[in-house]
Amino acid sequence: MQDKLTLMIPGPTPVPEKVLQALGKHPIGHRSAEFQELVKRTTEQLKWLHQTRGDVLTITGSGTAAMEAGIINTLSRGDLVLCGDNGKFGERWVKVAKAYGLNVEVIKSKWGSPLANSEFQQALEADTNKQIKAVILTHSETSTGVINDLETISKHVKNHGKALIIADCVTSLGACNVPVDAWGLDVVVSGSQKGYMMPPGLSFVAMSKRAWEAQKKSDLPKFYLDLESYRKTAVKNSNPFTPAVNLYFALEVGLEMMQKEGLQTIFDRHARHRSAAQAGMKAIGLPLFAKEGHGSPSITAVAPEGIDAEVLRKAVKEKYDILLAGGQDHLKGKVFRIGHLGFVNDRDVLTAVAAIESTMQSLNLLNCDMGIGVAAAASALH
Ligand SMILES: *Cc1c(COP(=O)(O)O)cnc(C)c1O
Repeated sequence: MQDKLTLMIPGPTPVPEKVLQALGKHPIGHRSAEFQELVKRTTEQLKWLHQTRGDVLTITGSGTAAMEAGIINTLSRGDLVLCGDNGKFGERWVKVAKAYGLNVEVIKSKWGSPLANSEFQQALEADTNKQIKAVILTHSETSTGVINDLETISKHVKNHGKALIIADCVTSLGACNVPVDAWGLDVVVSGSQKGYMMPPGLSFVAMSKRAWEAQKKSDLPKFYLDLESYRKTAVKNSNPFTPAVNLYFALEVGLEMMQKEGLQTIFDRHARHRSAAQAGMKAIGLPLFAKEGHGSPSITAVAPEGIDAEVLRKAVKEKYDILLAGGQDHLKGKVFRIGHLGFVNDRDVLTAVAAIESTMQSLNLLNCDMGIGVAAAASALH
């Protein structure tokens, strides 16, 4: 059947009808008073979502553009940075930092495990000469479904006193608490196709006062992603270049829906969906990939033993038109991932669990009575 696809991948995520309709309007001039009003409103909404009084700038580009902007606007050639790496997106931070000639010290954890807070603490405490200019990490590691302890790591960075903390919150913002000011985060990046309930194309960078101080000294090459030009134009509720005007229409509507639901309700919903997905998978004998207690609120990675995860994932798509995500790199065929980020309700999670369970049954892979997974997921939702 056509047009029945359910996205259960960690981005792009499902988009509400209202948001889609907003996109379908005729574009308006990006230098018009009408658009400036829109920029003003969305900027306030973005500050609400980030729980910050600092700047949140909008870039036309995917999440990686915001990551790159975060680095090239706050750091300088040869700067020493500590980079957390426990998955594909941690690796990406390392690659971006190296591409700009930074001196990168990598703090690694095994895929599936969280970053070790103590390793950051030790490295920062040992740095009495204050050579470390930034600690860079991913909050929710989408590739492995692991949530890192950003709050604690940020405390260690604050104790260091000099280093900035730069965080990829692409799959945590709008899924769990990320109070940018309260945690003292300096640079926080996110992307529209994740928690924002809208299509890909916009990304966001929150900048603290300290980040702007560092920006003044930063000497890395930049032009399109020079945040100084975004900041200057943001003061006039404008953009340096032609932004994706229609995506701004969508942004406002998506954020309005989030404001109506309320931050705490949104976080609770994601936590509930994590519990339901985890309970459903465990009940049908599919082990979780993330270490117990460290599962991301937006994505559940499953590592079926003795089953080709790609075969199962493709069969679910074929039979039920539910798109799950595969494993990345060495996890291909070993892991599949259930995205429950953004515009996802209880029904979506129950349906995904039921579809996985029933597909296993038809592939003769189910070692329990059909319905046990759904029952476990349903009770976790109550
Ligand atoms: C999706 C994602 C990104 C951004 O990827 P883009 O494809 O550039 O939008 C960055 N970090 C994490 C953790 C993500 O999940």
